[in-house]
Amino acid sequence: MKKPYVFNIQKYSIHDGPGIRTTFFFKGCPLSCQWCHNPESQRHEVELMYYHERCVDCGACVKACPNGANLLVDGHVSMNRVLCKACGNCVDECTMNARELVGKYYTVDELVKEAEKDQMFYEESGGGITLSGGEVMVQNMDYIEEFCRKLHRKGYSIDIDTCGFAPYENFARILPYVDTFLYDIKLMDPEKHKTYIGVNNRLILDNLIALNQAGAKINIRIPLVRGVNSSEEFIRQTIDFLRENQIRTLGFNLLPYHNTGKSKYENLDRSYADEQLKVPPQEQLEHFKQMFLDNGFQNIKIGG
Ligand code: SF4
Ligand code: SF4
Repeated sequence: MKKPYVFNIQKYSIHDGPGIRTTFFFKGCPLSCQWCHNPESQRHEVELMYYHERCVDCGACVKACPNGANLLVDGHVSMNRVLCKACGNCVDECTMNARELVGKYYTVDELVKEAEKDQMFYEESGGGITLSGGEVMVQNMDYIEEFCRKLHRKGYSIDIDTCGFAPYENFARILPYVDTFLYDIKLMDPEKHKTYIGVNNRLILDNLIALNQAGAKINIRIPLVRGVNSSEEFIRQTIDFLRENQIRTLGFNLLPYHNTGKSKYENLDRSYADEQLKVPPQEQLEHFKQMFLDNGFQNIKIGG
């Protein structure tokens, strides 16, 4: 099983569950959402971010690379990512901080220590720990289960932010330790789901039903992207699904699309499909909120 890598430890987070939380972001995701604003979270392995705008073409990274991944062409550095093994040599040599490795391995006890640092804030605010990604539920589950068990033993609230695309047995393993699942619903139509997200949504919906039947607490998170899913039809389908399957929800977050991740695609030398992706208008978000309220759902929040 692959080593889990953490690409961010977000302190004082107020968007990943109740109260003040520490959120651990794990690298690697089985989905490929076109609007993903954390492209550095998608691949499991450690990667190099190259901040082109800071680079002064000094060439130090060319000399530092044992794999020939950097070349000086006409006085400018260019990079062949296929050759990069994320060794970090160029990061150490770059005085302009134009390079950074994303993803780091921590032992479970090291992560627990990080979590402990802000214990006082969790107690005062009713917060805790959130595990996010990428996707937590496709990581090494021995590791994730041990982390959850140790946090739980300390009395911390644990929320899991998940896309739902993972074997149900992975969820079952950590169920006893988890306070709430922050569960994404992105599209109900299976074909559209495959087009925009790369996989069929059956497993995601089946897991949601199974978690509900197992008594898990569930908060639904719905990213809304104009041109993809911000339609009355999708909200209606979602409401119908939740009602038909008697899913008990603590609340909803309607998350309007934003393109703040665009520069990260440039730093990873990847293309970004932002032409067709748009922010939904506020009045439409308010209308969707009202649709949920009219159908008896509560705690509908626009935003994280
Ligand atoms: S070492 Fe840094 S500043 Fe120099 S060429 Fe490489 S990336 Fe640019
Ligand atoms: S991280 Fe290592 S392999 Fe990748 S470009 Fe830098 S020196 Fe080369």
